[in-house]
Amino acid sequence: MIPAQFDYVAPSTLEEALAALGEHGDDAKIIAGGQSLLPVLRMRLNAPELVIDLGRIDSLRGVRDDGDALVIGAMTTHSDVVTDSLVREHALLLSKAAEEVADNQIRHRGTFGGSVAHADPAGDMGSAALAMDAEFVIAGAGGTRTVPATDFFVDLFETAIGEDEILTEIRVPKKTGWGAHYEKFVRVAHQWPIVAVAATVNGSGGTISEARVALTNMGSTPLRASATESALAGASATEDGVRAAADAAAEGTSPPSDLNGSAEYRRHLATVLTRRAVLKAAGAA
Ligand SMILES: Cc1cc2nc3c(=O)[nH]c(=O)nc-3n(C[C@H](O)[C@H](O)[C@H](O)COP(=O)(O)OP(=O)(O)OC[C@H]3O[C@@H](n4cnc5c(N)ncnc54)[C@H](O)[C@@H]3O)c2cc1C
Repeated sequence: MIPAQFDYVAPSTLEEALAALGEHGDDAKIIAGGQSLLPVLRMRLNAPELVIDLGRIDSLRGVRDDGDALVIGAMTTHSDVVTDSLVREHALLLSKAAEEVADNQIRHRGTFGGSVAHADPAGDMGSAALAMDAEFVIAGAGGTRTVPATDFFVDLFETAIGEDEILTEIRVPKKTGWGAHYEKFVRVAHQWPIVAVAATVNGSGGTISEARVALTNMGSTPLRASATESALAGASATEDGVRAAADAAAEGTSPPSDLNGSAEYRRHLATVLTRRAVLKAAGAA
């Protein structure tokens, strides 16, 4: 279908974008890479009067080193997250997850910020950001505020970003030297995951000292596998060492049942994929 008619602006500063958003309120919609918004407009699930394109605001793009953290602009594309040398050195899990998003064309247009703002529970970047303890910098008329990942994802397609606010940056504490893997289960290539697991681990001499594990599509938001993380501290990085911890991965989750699989099947998948993800992150598979 063709989207309903809308006006379009492409401001060159964040202030102009916020002013346009403030003026039009509910009737305006931000567009980043357009990879999720345009299908929504085409299906007429949303019909904004004004579309505000962030594509000309250079300050929202790129990755910079900020001491203990990396700062990734909301408009940084998935492709740039995959290849950026700072991300690969200090936040490898994000690069691994972005590599698994859709296909090359979508990764070249779609953005890290757009993906987490859209908050599809099957989105790959949310769980990776959660596992990395990312923080989200949100700008509004009154200034900026920083929201931790645990509070950012509120519900299905709902985040802490207000209607008159714009996500500007994602701050990611460095995990330099940590191994990482994103294990995604799909029926055919380039699909949204049925279930996926984001894992990053630190350790040496075959022992895991710390681990962060988060699950995709196991509830209405990305979820931390906290019981698994606790059980992995001090575990040996072997199939047997990781198995019991991985078996706890689905604790506290509420996965959907749909044509791709029942909730029970997804719970089973979560344990298997967690074991694979942790072993690969630890370099043991
Ligand atoms: C065929 C297809 C397959 C896909 N497969 C996958 C997949 O396997 N895994 C996956 O994770 N994703 C997948 N995607 C989605 C893709 O990752 C998108 O890039 C992403 O979901 C949205 O990013 P975007 O930059 O295109 O955002 P847009 O589509 O431009 O925006 C998405 C939403 O976020 C809002 N928004 C965007 N940026 C901001 C901001 N800075 N501040 C406030 N609000 C903002 C918009 O208003 C809109 O509501 C797929 C998309 C397509 C079309």
